[in-house]
Amino acid sequence: MRQILVAGNWKLNGSKESIQSLVSGINEGMSGVGDKAVAVCPPFVYIPRVADLLSGSEIGLGSQDVASEETGAFTGEVSADMLKEVGCQYAIVGHSERRSIYGERDQDTAAKFAAARAKGLTPILCVGELLEERESGDTENVVARQLDAVIELEGVAALADAVIAYEPVWAIGTGKTASPDQAQAVHAFIRAKVAELDADVASKVQILYGGSVNGGNAAELFAMEDIDGGLIGGASLTPEAFLAICTA
Ligand code: PEP
Repeated sequence: MRQILVAGNWKLNGSKESIQSLVSGINEGMSGVGDKAVAVCPPFVYIPRVADLLSGSEIGLGSQDVASEETGAFTGEVSADMLKEVGCQYAIVGHSERRSIYGERDQDTAAKFAAARAKGLTPILCVGELLEERESGDTENVVARQLDAVIELEGVAALADAVIAYEPVWAIGTGKTASPDQAQAVHAFIRAKVAELDADVASKVQILYGGSVNGGNAAELFAMEDIDGGLIGGASLTPEAFLAICTA
């Protein structure tokens, strides 16, 4: 039985004051979450502060990105070692905003995945198709290509130490959620693809859905056979909205 994971991606949002009330609000509602795992991914600069605020809580902590390099002349980058040192357990890699706005290629994402994993962070590997790719019937090809970049570099067994997040780009921040059936079909495809290489890894790997999840649609999505929780953007920014998903 795979545990449900709900992870909040705060993106470029927050201030010292707002993260304090967000974290304490989430902490206060954790009793209603049951056996789901919950994590938050703040902007880099707030990670140490959130780690302090989370001390003693079971809420996990992650980054929104990670450098593929370990150290050296890479201005603006933050390494996996640094993230571990300030208390992260997870690192999101390959978010569609990194891919589309910052030109991150599948191989770059794979290198970040490898760097995170090498230092004991659990990569949350984001995959997903653009609207035009869905409309042209290319969803599975795109998702397979994005997964293959990681499998080629790290081997399928590496997915045992990772979380996959299927995030159709057309559903991110748009209010257009994939229907539970649409999402389930891609999740099942991902699991079957991994199973062709390693059935044990496939049965264990958590596959989250991301794209306009909210308190009203989370329960139906999380009830699908191959959906093991959610990666949440907009609705992770207030305790009420995030907890409505965590308790769904
Ligand atoms: C995301 O950015 O990972 C995401 C799923 O955003 P939203 O929930 O706002 O669609």
